[in-house]
Amino acid sequence: MPQYQAVKGTRDIFPEEAAQWKYVERVVHTFASLYGFSEIRTPVFEYTELFQRGIGSTTDIVGKEMFSFQPDPKGRSLTLRPEMTAGVMRAALQKNLLSSAPVHKLYYIGELFRKERPQAGRQRQFSQFGAELLGVSSPAAVAEVITLMMEIFDSLGLHGLKLRINSLGDTEDRLRYREALQLYFTPFHDILDEASKERLEKNPLRILDSKNPALQELIAGAPRLYDYLNDSSVQDFEKVLFYLAERNIAYDIDYRLVRGLDYYCNTAFEVTSSELGAQDAIGGGGRYDGLSRELGSSVEVPAVGFAVGMERLLMTMEKQGLFALLDSDNPLVYVVVQQQDLVDHGLQIAWRLRRAGIKTEIDLAARSMKAQMREANRISASYALFIGTMECTTGLYALKNLVTSEQTTLSLEAVLELLREQAEKEPLKS
Ligand code: AMP
Repeated sequence: MPQYQAVKGTRDIFPEEAAQWKYVERVVHTFASLYGFSEIRTPVFEYTELFQRGIGSTTDIVGKEMFSFQPDPKGRSLTLRPEMTAGVMRAALQKNLLSSAPVHKLYYIGELFRKERPQAGRQRQFSQFGAELLGVSSPAAVAEVITLMMEIFDSLGLHGLKLRINSLGDTEDRLRYREALQLYFTPFHDILDEASKERLEKNPLRILDSKNPALQELIAGAPRLYDYLNDSSVQDFEKVLFYLAERNIAYDIDYRLVRGLDYYCNTAFEVTSSELGAQDAIGGGGRYDGLSRELGSSVEVPAVGFAVGMERLLMTMEKQGLFALLDSDNPLVYVVVQQQDLVDHGLQIAWRLRRAGIKTEIDLAARSMKAQMREANRISASYALFIGTMECTTGLYALKNLVTSEQTTLSLEAVLELLREQAEKEPLKS
């Protein structure tokens, strides 16, 4: 066992898997751009208060899952970002983005950090991609964000995902509901677990999120938030559902869906995969009109967004065999040097091939010709280009197609032309 291991809850991504990541990331970039979203990259750490204000101090994330540190004794506490939305909103407000245009559509792919108990599908460092639509949160905007997310899943070939959706109403709806929940749960105070007792005081909605099996029956009997919505909240929600239906996006209304973060309002949604175990949520999101004010903005910035966990998405794709057809990153040509005194010539040829945009590999470990051929086959190079004394003197090179075993002798110009043509048929995959 080597002396150093990766920290529990983190993992390494080796090249074969990295190719899967790149493939998914490329699809995300393509679809985000198709829907008019531009990429934003924010810092990995922020002031701790940003998350305390932005996520809410009663949430598990802020309560117990943040990696916080103080860079110097007098410095302000900093926290590795546990989610992206607060940072994106902070950046937008800081730059006064909304003054340049009333609507900004941003997306991201980035690493997050939560001090959770590591288990399958739950890490301490993980990645999400997501989108945030700032400046408007009308039903059309909500539907646009959900559509983008579902189109990405669809394009990746995922099947069997379940989209659950609910409306959390506006602030007043939720205040009325909050009181109703407190009235409902208070007589059962003694049978609540410690976490739920605490939530009963601070944020009773979150009791509905509890996974404690002993509480499920009690939770099932609780009043429904939906019954406390005012007419305009209901109309909004129905309009979102209308757009989804128009786009053939299947959904289930789940009146129990509340989501963990405090700043959500109106539509909230979650996507689950039956392919995953206990941690079955792949992504989710919703409207968060209240966040900007929570972060000190003098004007409210209506907003809606979603976030999808990359690791869980990749796990689901793997289980559904969706990477089987992923092109491998193999080189087009392997430059095989027949004798070591020709290495420099071989290196020069490899450089010229690469300059011409041809994916080329060459041995750097002074291996025998036989070992070079074995390596060319191992990494599935399509061609081998031989460098021998004959080639160096005549300027004619033997090029072998490693799939058909056909061999031809060509000038370097002709080799470049032939391989360039092949490269165009089989563009660089990354
Ligand atoms: P959340 O921000 O908690 O709504 O999470 C959005 C998505 O991120 C989830 O649906 C998961 O796919 C993913 N996710 C959240 N926490 C973790 C974690 N600790 N490890 C891996 N993925 C996570």
